This record gives sequence, structure tokens and C-alpha cells, in this order.
Amino acid sequence: MVLSSPPPVPAVSGVTPFDQRLGQPLTKLPITVLQINLGRRCNLACNHCHVEAGPKRTEELSAAVCNQLIEVIRRYPQLTTVDLTGGAPEMNAGFRPLVEAAQGAGKTVMVRTNLTIFFEPGYDDLPAYFARHRLQVVASLPCYLEQNVNQQRGSGVYDASIRALQWLNQLGYGQDPDLRLDLVYNPPVPRSEDFSLTPSQTKLEADYRTHLRHYFGITFNQLYTLTNLPIGRVKQALMAQDLYQPYLQFLAEHHNLATVANVMCRNQLSVDYLGQIYDCDFNQMEGVPCRLPNGDPFTVADLLTEAGLDQLQRVQTRPYCYGCTAGSGSSCGGALVSD
Ligand code: SF4
Ligand code: SF4
Repeated sequence: MVLSSPPPVPAVSGVTPFDQRLGQPLTKLPITVLQINLGRRCNLACNHCHVEAGPKRTEELSAAVCNQLIEVIRRYPQLTTVDLTGGAPEMNAGFRPLVEAAQGAGKTVMVRTNLTIFFEPGYDDLPAYFARHRLQVVASLPCYLEQNVNQQRGSGVYDASIRALQWLNQLGYGQDPDLRLDLVYNPPVPRSEDFSLTPSQTKLEADYRTHLRHYFGITFNQLYTLTNLPIGRVKQALMAQDLYQPYLQFLAEHHNLATVANVMCRNQLSVDYLGQIYDCDFNQMEGVPCRLPNGDPFTVADLLTEAGLDQLQRVQTRPYCYGCTAGSGSSCGGALVSD
């Protein structure tokens, strides 16, 4: 298969371009995951948010793109998972129609929730809705300690998150094998050159489990540890402290070749609210779209042609890709190799 020429990738001094480090382009695998970013609206405005989401953002999925996505979901049995994200996906147009179409087509449906949305006016039916539709809940809880969560996400967020997790547990989440509840850890944004790799997922999961069970009686399935990629608000914060380039260099120095086979962009497509396709949510937020071999933009409408889902040969890599491959790796499903 002939690979199309890559577009020029902006260089960062002292950081080897990602593909060059691999010695070859990062190639796509058969697509099994459709991740849909429904929009930028969110009830929170966290300082680590790579989407730069918030209550004042208005961008969201149009009905036309939503209908195309539903058609894609129904047409392709090779798609096993539909992953709904945002912003707060629940606040954005198209959330329920997409859930119901994907569930009806027999897909695993994941919702990335910030938990606090359950307590916003008009959203208190969400936990029961999630349970009724057997949604896999992937819930942000950037730490098991109150102070760290409130520092990253805002005052009162920890308390609301705990109440939301207890609510989900009461509905069977984290106990019933059909009601999976996974938590997501985000490290704090670095404030000095004393960088550290994301902690061991296994050890941190044990700490979360002990603390949440002991103090709140909460149970969950798995913890996903993420690395902060230097994009969005994290990049702004790093740049304000002259830490952007040193942080990227740190990630590149800890590149772990063993993670590369499992990076999430290889078997997924990430769609934005306009129907434009990207390799991952990070490329989506950085404005690095997928291109067809002839250089044209790749959109949801292209998935409805005879060419199908597997039209891309290579992933568009950028220097921040080292955030996915440093140490044990990082993805929407947590670490990529065991630690
Ligand atoms: S809850 Fe998630 S989407 Fe909303 S601002 Fe925080 S990190 Fe961003
Ligand atoms: S940021 Fe991560 S998921 Fe996105 S293209 Fe780079 S390696 Fe793949």
C-alpha cells in the first residue's frame, strides 16, 4: 500500500519528530471504535481540559451530522464501540439519539461523564437513563482526595462527584457485570521542571479503591490513568511558565516503544461536531484533521460511500504524541502496557 505524503509537522526544538523516532509512519488498523465529540458545552471549566470546554461554549452537533453518524453506526458491524465525549456529552445535541441508535445496533456505548452534570437542572434522570441503556460509564475523578479534585475542577466538584458515584452504585453500577463504571485519573498540570511520569495505574487503582470504599462505600470496575498532553489549557499553563518545551522533551525522553502498538488512534476515528474526522480527540482539539490520500478533508459523509471506514493509511502524528507513549502509555482506556 502506498502511503500519501505527510503534511509538514511543526518542529519543536530538541524534540525528535514522532514518526522519525518510530522510524516509520504510524499506520492505521481496521477501525473498530467511533469516538464522537458532541460539542464544547460543559457545566465545568477544568484547568486541565484539553477541549477548553465550559458553560459559555455553544458549538455542538448539528442534526444533519447526527443523522449521518447514526447511519454510520447502523451500517458497519465492524464498529464495536461508540464512545461519546465532549464537553459534557449529555448537554450537547444528539446525545440520546446516538445512544439509542448505538445500543439498538448492539454496540458497546461509552459515555465520558464529569458526574456533576447529574445535579444540574434538567439532568437528574441521567443515572437512570444510563442504567436503562446499559451505558459504560467512564467518569472523571482526577484524584481520590478532595483538595486535588477541587483545585483542578472547581470548588464543590469532589462532593458532587462522590454523591454521583454513590447514586450510580445504587443503580448497580460497579457491581452488575452489565453496568460498568470506570474512573479516570488526571495528574495535576506541572508547575516546575520537576516532571514525573503518570503513576502506576495498578497501584493508584488500589489506592482509589481503598479510599473510596472506606470513606464512601463506593465501588468501581477500573481506574484509567491519563497523562496530561501539552495541548489546550495545559499547553497555555505550561507556556506561561516556560515549561512547554521542557515538558515535551521530558515526555520524548520517556518514550516507550512497547506502547506504540496499542495507541488508541490506530483503530479509532474521532468525529467533531461538524462531522470532520480526526485520529483522536487530541488531534481534533489541535486542529489536525485526517486527510484522504488525495489530500481532501475526511468527513462523516465519506464514511457513507462504498469506500467504507478503512480509508486512511497513516495517523497524523505531532510532538504531543509522546504524551501517549511516555512510560506506561496513556489513552482514553488508560495505560497501554502493564506497569
Ligand atoms: S468536565 Fe471534562 S469536558 Fe468539562 S471542562 Fe472539565 S475536563 Fe473539560
Ligand atoms: S496524540 Fe496519541 S492518540 Fe493522538 S495521534 Fe498522537 S499517539 Fe495517536
